[in-house]
Amino acid sequence: MSTSFTKASVRDAPVSDRRVLLRADLNVPLANGTIEDDTRIRAATPTIESLRDREAAIVLCSHLGRPKGPDPRLSLAPVAARLGELVGSEVPLAPGVVGEDVARRAGRLAAGDLLLLENTRFEAGETENDPRLAEALGTLADLYVNDAFAAAHRAHASTEGVAHRLRGYAGLLLEREVRELTSVRDDPAPPLVIALGGAKVSDKIGAIDRFLHTAETILIGGAMCFSFFRALGQPTGASMVEEEGVELAAEVLERASEAECELRLPVDLVLGDHLDAAAQRREEDGTSVPDGWMGLDIGPRTASRYAEAISAAGTVFWNGPMGVFELEPFAAGTRAVAEAIAAARGRTVVGGGDSVAALNQLGLADRVDWVSTGGGASLELMEGRELPGIEALMDATEVRA
Ligand code: ADP
Ligand code: MG
Repeated sequence: MSTSFTKASVRDAPVSDRRVLLRADLNVPLANGTIEDDTRIRAATPTIESLRDREAAIVLCSHLGRPKGPDPRLSLAPVAARLGELVGSEVPLAPGVVGEDVARRAGRLAAGDLLLLENTRFEAGETENDPRLAEALGTLADLYVNDAFAAAHRAHASTEGVAHRLRGYAGLLLEREVRELTSVRDDPAPPLVIALGGAKVSDKIGAIDRFLHTAETILIGGAMCFSFFRALGQPTGASMVEEEGVELAAEVLERASEAECELRLPVDLVLGDHLDAAAQRREEDGTSVPDGWMGLDIGPRTASRYAEAISAAGTVFWNGPMGVFELEPFAAGTRAVAEAIAAARGRTVVGGGDSVAALNQLGLADRVDWVSTGGGASLELMEGRELPGIEALMDATEVRA
């Protein structure tokens, strides 16, 4: 498989004095209308600046959360305000996604102007990829730029449908994401070490399967490890076990024994008597979880073994926290892995909303070579699946056609 990206780039798009519909992923975590982490907004600015420098008028759009129809709590207003601070000029917010009023405002944009549409998911046609919505979005601009890597695994009207109506180009972030992740997938400097944690095996099974053939070592942590322990017939107490994951884990164990990859499970655990920062906590030197206890983190011996494997790696990819890092008593395993990644000599790439939140919380994000803005999208790309938001874009060879 080739690591070169074949899609037309925004850098080669004829944007000056034209209107560009720019799809970004500005889906940031909000708490009572306040942005908790603006990483995705910051990641969207290089493409915006590049378009403005070239005198394009920009109609910007994104989804936010999972509203069922228009919902003022999921308005992009706070995002418009933050983006305005970052780009140094006010960012007006349209009253909706499409419609006459929106079209009029888009039509009045001058070179360098920016208009943010409301949350695309306020329209039911967005997630249904309704051709009528794609059509209406298409009438707002002369060409389309998709920079929403984190939403590229979804075939929605603003990520996929509209690319069949306007000439579509890849944004700078989307391009870089694909390059960075594809090179880990197809061309990693050995040894490749993968650290996987988080809640569910079923989310990560495709990636595990692929990495069994390309990685030297897979380190398993998070709640996911209990599906494996259950599959091995060990008691898991009150630990979170995804039932569907047990069978998947059994299959993975079987395939791992045939592959050359070493699949490692924890050798010790940190237990809690319930899921709370004030829970009783105990370290268990072993991996049997007694009744009434739940495994909430990898233990210290596991953490130092995993850290060692990461230090010796040529390439590291991490997705999914090793424990319930949101609660301080169960954060040590995730911290150890994050610190080992920050200090690693090899190339380091991290994807996944919660893993990236953990990195940010620890102040280590700058010390990782590539922090992906995509969770589900980064995993699907790693699995080798085609992402509809990328597939729909024009090929580079069509740029001058
Ligand atoms: P990411 O967003 O990085 O892909 P996931 O969404 O798969 O990660 O999983 C993150 C969640 O998994 C976190 O909220 C974390 O608290 C939880 N988690 C990790 N380990 C455990 C565990 N042992 N028991 C329960 N929940 C866990
Ligand atoms: Mg998550």
